[in-house]
Amino acid sequence: MKIRCRDCGHSETMNKELILTFLGGAAAGFGFWAWVSFLFAGTGFAMPLCIAIVVGGPALVAKYGDEIVEWLANKGYTCKKCNGNKWMPISEEADIELNRYKTEEAVLKNTLSEKELEIKEFLSEQNNLFSIEDLEHYFNELEQKDNTIENLLKDKEKWEVLKQSYTQTQEQVNQSFKRRFNVCYPSLIFNKRALKGIGRLNETALLKFEQKLGQLQHRSDQLVYRDKIQGTDIIEMDFNQSGRFYIQKEGASFHIVCVGDKKTQLDDLKFIKNFY
Ligand SMILES: [Zn+2]
Repeated sequence: MKIRCRDCGHSETMNKELILTFLGGAAAGFGFWAWVSFLFAGTGFAMPLCIAIVVGGPALVAKYGDEIVEWLANKGYTCKKCNGNKWMPISEEADIELNRYKTEEAVLKNTLSEKELEIKEFLSEQNNLFSIEDLEHYFNELEQKDNTIENLLKDKEKWEVLKQSYTQTQEQVNQSFKRRFNVCYPSLIFNKRALKGIGRLNETALLKFEQKLGQLQHRSDQLVYRDKIQGTDIIEMDFNQSGRFYIQKEGASFHIVCVGDKKTQLDDLKFIKNFY
């Protein structure tokens, strides 16, 4: 079995070594099994649990996983990467799967930024009056018809090809994030625009953003919320200093409606006021 940090996604194998390192020299002089029985005495954990920890297997993780992570958290076991102490049990298989999603995300994101560069180059060849701000705006509005920028293009044929290839890759990026987030943050719901914003975060920003997602998923009652955006029930949250994202509470779930930064803030607010 593995344990996965709910805040940053770092995972560790829950085995004999982890328990021994974690609890230090307490085990000296005992055989491992004798020691484990002693350690868990009085906690209601039985031998099958100890076997579950070391041997693992999806069925055992499902059966004992929560108890084990609760025990770890109570003992103050913290994450090496982010110092968090909220863990979730996860099978080896699921962990491999999640890591595979992450790799796939990274590859797709690279492809997407290459395509974005291509588009920027193309647009600046077509009309050198487009400013960088125009382009940023344009990428957010790409799917809307009758875009002013689009109407100014000379080479419409090449444009269609570039645009299609870009939006296809964008969709793949979205799906890839969605799959992983559904596993890691089951009570959060992401719309298309939010996924798009997430796909454009760099590695550091994504990590900081996911820490906020972890908080929303697991201890939303401890978060400090700002005022709602005027005329809506959307709340603005920040991450990684200039990062901004917007949420809407619905029952026990949160909708993540938009993810951006200070640069996209005007566009983002306009979107929210139009659609929420
Ligand atoms: Zn962590």
